[in-house]
Amino acid sequence: MRLSADRDTCVGAGMCVLTAPEVFDQDDEQGRVVILDPGVVDERAEAVREAAVLCPAAALTVTED
Ligand code: SF4
Repeated sequence: MRLSADRDTCVGAGMCVLTAPEVFDQDDEQGRVVILDPGVVDERAEAVREAAVLCPAAALTVTED
């Protein structure tokens, strides 16, 4: 699984952080998404997929290997 985040599209809603706090954070300036630890994406696969579905801006892209 690969995960990418489009910070230009992100509107800072924070759903991703609520859904998978080990994977996502928001920056202090604009509240836009930051991927914290790409190393746990596979480990947290279900939550990462859910975060991508819940993101109101469709800013998260999950690609299955
Ligand atoms: S849920 Fe989507 S819009 Fe909200 S912070 Fe995460 S990536 Fe950005």
